[in-house]
Amino acid sequence: MFRGILIEKDEAGYRAAVKNIDEASLPEGDVTVRVSHSTLNYKDALAITGRGPVVRKSPLVPGIDLVGTVEETSHPDFKVGDKVVLNGWGVGESHWGGLAQKARLKGDWLVPLPEAFIPQQAMAIGTAGYTAMLCVMALERHGVTPDKGEILVTGAAGGVGGVAVALLSKLGYTVVGVTGRLEERNYIMGLGASDVLDRAALSAPGKPLGRERWAGAVDVVGSHTLANVCATTRYGGVVTACGLAGGMDLPATVAPFILRGVTLAGVDSVMAPKSLRLQAWQRLSTDLNLTKLGQIAEEIGLDDVIATATKLLDGQVRGRLIVDVY
Ligand code: NDP
Repeated sequence: MFRGILIEKDEAGYRAAVKNIDEASLPEGDVTVRVSHSTLNYKDALAITGRGPVVRKSPLVPGIDLVGTVEETSHPDFKVGDKVVLNGWGVGESHWGGLAQKARLKGDWLVPLPEAFIPQQAMAIGTAGYTAMLCVMALERHGVTPDKGEILVTGAAGGVGGVAVALLSKLGYTVVGVTGRLEERNYIMGLGASDVLDRAALSAPGKPLGRERWAGAVDVVGSHTLANVCATTRYGGVVTACGLAGGMDLPATVAPFILRGVTLAGVDSVMAPKSLRLQAWQRLSTDLNLTKLGQIAEEIGLDDVIATATKLLDGQVRGRLIVDVY
């Protein structure tokens, strides 16, 4: 038996609880991992609370991230004792995930724990941090260099936003953070932002085009915020869109794209190919300041996860949450 969070969805309703789970009920897979840490991401909070349609089967162990040690394997790339990291691939949605002491997975989904990180640091990064890295890599791929001008990061007190601010500032960009929690201004400036804006300036319906300011952006919010970010991006600038914390809609016009040549670059972490993941984790090993990562992350226990999920969706969690599953 091992301990984990189990979500059940049946006639009795939708519920999540910490349970003792029989190892025999682990799903199919060619690698069994003794999980040491997981994380609590926005998507995990949607799954645990049932506030978003994340859970694709019942019962399900949630948790889109995990780090741990290979316990059994028939996969050629891994041997017993290897330290591995998993992010996404539908784990914690349609396949049992990381918020438990054991997981059985496809070896093809795993990446080796980079030598630069201890397990807690890999989870301080987690899907949110690896997505932030994918956004930065997308800006680079589209030619946004530090000399081009300011980069806007929305949801800067959250997980993706905080890591994006830290990464971009270390890479020499001038970063402006957006937050609904102005009391976190010093925290966001401490991660490397040169200025912090109030979320209210961007969240209301705006004009098709505004004053050109941003050379690039990392947006986790969507909806009117993303529309306003596109409308105020400079000629030839690039906006990376990875989140929907403010809504799934995009009430925008094509004006920024056809009149200013703005690029809207979508970023997905879940099905990103392995080569891109390995590249992102490699870049995280060199481009993330570990002192700042320490400021971003806080550790909680498995028994704290369910209550914390509601707080996270209510915008009361700062930065990233590491979950010690023991
Ligand atoms: P967090 O909850 O840690 O951060 C989200 C932040 O968004 C909050 O901290 C808050 O920042 C801001 N926010 C929340 N609600 C609103 C609102 N109504 N209007 C404007 N801003 C709001 O989540 P994550 O950083 O883990 O994830 C952020 C988003 O990115 C989520 O939508 C998530 O689903 C998505 N995501 C997508 C991935 C992908 O592969 N595409 C991977 C990972 C995440 P503040 O308090 O500073 O205003």
